[in-house]
Amino acid sequence: MLCKHCGSENIKRFSVVCDEGTSVESISASSKPVWNTKPFSPFGKQKVKGTRTLKTELAKRCSPPSDPESFVVYLAAFPGMIIGGYFGLSAGVSWGSFWLGLIVFVVVMFGLMFGGAFAWRKFLGGNKSIQNYRVNLNAWQRSWYCSKCGGTTIS
Ligand SMILES: [Zn+2]
Repeated sequence: MLCKHCGSENIKRFSVVCDEGTSVESISASSKPVWNTKPFSPFGKQKVKGTRTLKTELAKRCSPPSDPESFVVYLAAFPGMIIGGYFGLSAGVSWGSFWLGLIVFVVVMFGLMFGGAFAWRKFLGGNKSIQNYRVNLNAWQRSWYCSKCGGTTIS
């Protein structure tokens, strides 16, 4: 494989460029919660730990396209939780059973998530964006980045 712009051999797959430019940083911070009158640690502080993903500009450029379907499911999860929570709670209260309420909550939430994804595919042009996504993903898998001229070569 050679760069089709400058003929350089110095080319890398987009996935490699993206991996190289992505770093996961662990962050830890300590906070002092006001409600904490009997602290677990000697100083009354709680340690908060998390991670943060950092990407260079180049890695962002070489990132794979995002899956539109998981985004729709993710979007539907929020109203699903609220509506499911509402139905689950009222069912649980009126039937006097926590477990029945929980079952209703789970069923309504997943029903909305997958129903939403289904409606999106069927009526809102979702199938087309999934097709687009597959084409883009395929092109991304065959894309090479030239570190000499910055050009993109598709194999
Ligand atoms: Zn080049």
